[in-house]
Amino acid sequence: MPRFIKRSALAAAALLAGVAACTYNEELGRSQLLISGESSMAQAAQASWNQIKQQQRVSNDPRYTSRVNRVAPKLIQAAGDNPAKWEVLVFEDQSLNAFALPGGKIGIHTGILDLMQNDAQLAAVVGHEIAHVKYRHSGERYSQNIVASGLIGVASVAAGMGCDGTAAERRSCEQRAGVAVQALGLGAIYGAILPYSRKHELEADTGGVRYMARAGYDSCEAIRFWQRMQAASAGQARPPEFASTHPASQTRIDNLRQVVRKQGRSC
Ligand SMILES: [Zn+2]
Repeated sequence: MPRFIKRSALAAAALLAGVAACTYNEELGRSQLLISGESSMAQAAQASWNQIKQQQRVSNDPRYTSRVNRVAPKLIQAAGDNPAKWEVLVFEDQSLNAFALPGGKIGIHTGILDLMQNDAQLAAVVGHEIAHVKYRHSGERYSQNIVASGLIGVASVAAGMGCDGTAAERRSCEQRAGVAVQALGLGAIYGAILPYSRKHELEADTGGVRYMARAGYDSCEAIRFWQRMQAASAGQARPPEFASTHPASQTRIDNLRQVVRKQGRSC
């Protein structure tokens, strides 16, 4: 067994013991298993994002882009980030969908934009997607998959752990780790677009509504928009992707009502 694998096995044991990988997130009020660093997730997601931009048509229609460019920066700021570091694009696609990737990439389909009645409803969707990124939901899904698939040794090498010794040893270890990162890249792409769990969806709804309120939008519009989504997807045999992995609409609306009520609003 090469040395770097042995070392990574030790690192993996440490990770499994939960020492290095479990991070407490105060805003969520729970611990998260995060094997891969934020930057390596962002790196892997960049490849997926480039691919999506090549495969799907990016809309330059000002009817869409002006709204998105007006609303998204306010929400990103409300979430405590710099809008210049995020990329928010509109894709010409009739499906009722929006998505987010680690590293601050958000895609919004024209179909879901057509369903929105005002800026606040757009803010609800953008806020939801920002929350997925801020709460590192992809990283969490990815980590869960790595543990489940027994790839944790490779993952710990890819995360840059276990490279020590002389300068030459470190270099060769890092090279091998680079190969491991590439191999993991494929997994990360899959990880980045993996459906979120219902728990993640409710957390993203909650976070999104908080950002909305901070940015000065009426959070009641989040509830109204979700009711519109429910009505629009009712007749379809297969629910839109944005909704298919999401919690049952009623659970979601109930959760939103609770959060909005805590903000002192009644809708
Ligand atoms: Zn979501």
